[in-house]
Amino acid sequence: AEPGNPAHAIFERFLRAGECREVLGCFLELCQQLGLQGSGLQLYHGLKAALNYWNAKALWSKLDKKAGHKDYDQGTACAGTKCLVVGAGPCGLRAAIELALLGARVVLLEKRDSFSRNNVLHLWPFTIHDLRALGAKKFYGRFCTGTLDHISIRQLQLILLKVALLLGVEVHINVRFEGLVPPTDKAGGWHAVLQPSSSPLTHYEFDVLISAGGGKFVPEGFKRKETRGKLAIGITTNFINRHSRAEVEVAEISGVARIYNQKFFQNLYNKTGIDLENIVYYKDDTHYFVMTAKKQSLLKKGVILQDKADIESLLAPDNVNRDALLSYAKEAANFSTNYCLPDLEFALNHRDLPDVDMFDFTCMTRSENAALVQEHNGSRVLLGLVGDCLVEPFWPLGTGVARGFLAAFDAAWMVRRWAAGTPPLEVLAERESIYQRLSQTSPDNTNKNVSQYSIDPATRYPNINLQAIKASQVDLGGVSPVSASPVASGAVCEELLSWCQASTAGYPGVAVTNFSTSWTSGLALCALIHRFPMSLHRDFDSIDPQDAIQTHQMLLDIAEQELGIQPVLSSAEMATLTEPDCLDLITYLSHFYQIFGTSPE
Ligand code: FAD
Repeated sequence: AEPGNPAHAIFERFLRAGECREVLGCFLELCQQLGLQGSGLQLYHGLKAALNYWNAKALWSKLDKKAGHKDYDQGTACAGTKCLVVGAGPCGLRAAIELALLGARVVLLEKRDSFSRNNVLHLWPFTIHDLRALGAKKFYGRFCTGTLDHISIRQLQLILLKVALLLGVEVHINVRFEGLVPPTDKAGGWHAVLQPSSSPLTHYEFDVLISAGGGKFVPEGFKRKETRGKLAIGITTNFINRHSRAEVEVAEISGVARIYNQKFFQNLYNKTGIDLENIVYYKDDTHYFVMTAKKQSLLKKGVILQDKADIESLLAPDNVNRDALLSYAKEAANFSTNYCLPDLEFALNHRDLPDVDMFDFTCMTRSENAALVQEHNGSRVLLGLVGDCLVEPFWPLGTGVARGFLAAFDAAWMVRRWAAGTPPLEVLAERESIYQRLSQTSPDNTNKNVSQYSIDPATRYPNINLQAIKASQVDLGGVSPVSASPVASGAVCEELLSWCQASTAGYPGVAVTNFSTSWTSGLALCALIHRFPMSLHRDFDSIDPQDAIQTHQMLLDIAEQELGIQPVLSSAEMATLTEPDCLDLITYLSHFYQIFGTSPE
């Protein structure tokens, strides 16, 4: 930076800023200093022209390279599209960046005004490559040095916030999105109910809403599904990292699953009474640990006071001894690092309390659809979900932010198709076809050539079928909301029924004649699954025909884990179907049909 050039000095402060408000403050100051107004890529070009010293230029060349990708049509692909993004978590910010590169106007709302999560996220190779290409190292020098493949949530948010601002995303903090307001007359557009209601943004009219409000928040119209797995209690904790020599030397633990290291967990249990399924340790701003603990050991160590059947009461604050929880987490951390981290001291969370939390991962939620269209007075709004509100991640597996970024790219691709005038049903059908793949993705089954990744799904998912769900299968259902589940028409139902009959023929106790009572015992579904190769190693002998709910639960789990087919009904609902042709069951079975084709072998 030129000494004495105030804009350069402000820009350097912006690059280093370590708090959300500080980043926004520096950016405003910078724009004022340079006399720059407006937003979008125009603002980006203004900044580039005004800041042309070496350090800034190195960043521009990275961002220019990114912006030059053909998918963006030189920032014109979505010119004229107005987007509202809800949530400045990693996924909302990442989606906002893509929309800005596409040339859309992007307004992003965040209800909070600070980034306070110390917890550390695992990054897949493509996310590391992606963040580097956005200039991550310029904003955070320690970004993924050496073999490091993780980052704290708050540092990730800071990096993405800075990139978003530079690309002209309009970021507003302390504004909460509360719902959609349809246009009041033919000339008007969709806008949002906001808190505070005095926010000038209540007048902002948009045609795309990307919701990235995290695990608990989805806008009206989206249905959430719960998957109940086996009991899983997660504990996260952070300790202060003083970056001393001793601390630097202690090795990280990336995912010691119980099955792979039984001896370690046995020793831990023998020595301390702590019984874990897994533990992960990452070093970042803090020493971060995440572990899945067995209920019995939490009871024995006095962390959970009383055993209760339902998980919510089990982990309710009045049933948890905080001090015992702190000791439990610290003891596990000490043991698993061989007592080599001297004087572990808890880092503080945003409430200034020791940063230790216990979470329930037994019940995970996901959205049934990734996108919807609403229409009123002839005006349409496209709604898309990204991040945790689309699929809640299981933290110890570290899949959250990678799948979150994949969904952010997919959502941007959808907006590009929308802006190109593709018919809404086609846009939705394509989006749902891609969404089907999301829960099965891993670094191993996504394309290896991460430098080629773009918002185009074909660059990321091998052999993706963008028409797995047909536009004709998307049910427009009148005006709003448009449901995109692959509900079949009459003819398709008949075809599906004969396929189910053929696939289950010859199994004792199975006679498929409809889409309800024929399936309640679970035996028909069992026969269907059993017919296909992936189930060969499964032990179906343990099935107890008397316990239909348990049978269904097992089958739903197998289908989800091995085929990525999400349950549409709960095991209890499956076991008690009565209505003549249950649409949810048809939807569910049609996924099997899509995967296994016309006739099973
Ligand atoms: P989030 O990061 O949750 O961001 C959502 C944002 O939307 C938030 O900033 C929120 O304030 C804002 N928001 C919500 N509703 C509204 C609204 N109505 N209006 C305006 N803004 C709104 N994952 C791991 O892998 N390991 C961990 O240890 C871990 N720890 C976590 C700890 C906590 C307390 C939380 C909440 C999440 C944690 N996660 C962890 C999950 C991880 O943070 C996410 O997978 C990742 O950040 C991507 O999430 P996201 O961007 O979809 O949502």
